Amino acid sequence: MRGFKWPGRFKGAVSLTFDDGLPSQLRLAVPLLDKFGFKATFYLNPKGDYRRELRPWKEVAESGHEIGNHTLTHPCSRNFPWGVSRNCLEDMTLEDIRADIMEAHRRIKEIIPNGSRTFAYPCYETSVGRGSSKRSYVPIVAEIFLAARGRGEKGYSNHPLACDLHELWSWSADRMRFEEMMGLTIRAISEGRWAIFTFHGINEGHLPVSEHDLREFLKFLSDNQDRIWVATIVEIAEYIIEVRKELGLTS
Ligand SMILES: [Zn+2]
Repeated sequence: MRGFKWPGRFKGAVSLTFDDGLPSQLRLAVPLLDKFGFKATFYLNPKGDYRRELRPWKEVAESGHEIGNHTLTHPCSRNFPWGVSRNCLEDMTLEDIRADIMEAHRRIKEIIPNGSRTFAYPCYETSVGRGSSKRSYVPIVAEIFLAARGRGEKGYSNHPLACDLHELWSWSADRMRFEEMMGLTIRAISEGRWAIFTFHGINEGHLPVSEHDLREFLKFLSDNQDRIWVATIVEIAEYIIEVRKELGLTS
């Protein structure tokens, strides 16, 4: 980690990200985050009556949280049980995925002008097509966004100088207990790294975290806020890009 220093007394960083705009995020996560004074990143799919659906998120953005892009239609692999009846990455071209992302970008920006600066890959998948015609869409995402969140393996977080800012590693916190979130965080911070957690519903849906576990994790982060920097994806990415420039690193 030679040459890299986190701001102030921080030893490492944590970002909390929430996908799919589920109602429990507005009802439970935002008030909890606000209670502890933390800012998080919410990745939304602005489909349907997006002007009405984005209205509460506009307020969330105005209070300092980040609203990111999670595509318009949330395309994932056909191999999922629901894949047969949905548009799937295997059937899409790079032009298709670009159009999907750009329409979400346009809609978010219309309502939340400082939104859609970072991206989260739906189902953590980063390519279109299949087999010999399979293509990564990471380069398209890198053209449009400052940073993007993918999936990593448990225990491995992001080295601020080495990580690909357009395929950041994150841990799915679905059904995770707060003790595990704490342990993963302690390891990342002890290594001077950036840990990113991905949440879906709080007490709801098929990938839930309990309100109790989220609250206890936030309490742990609050108790350690002199050494752990808790901030949005865009804020930490901007800091890393600045340091990389100062060090003369090209990417
Ligand atoms: Zn999603």
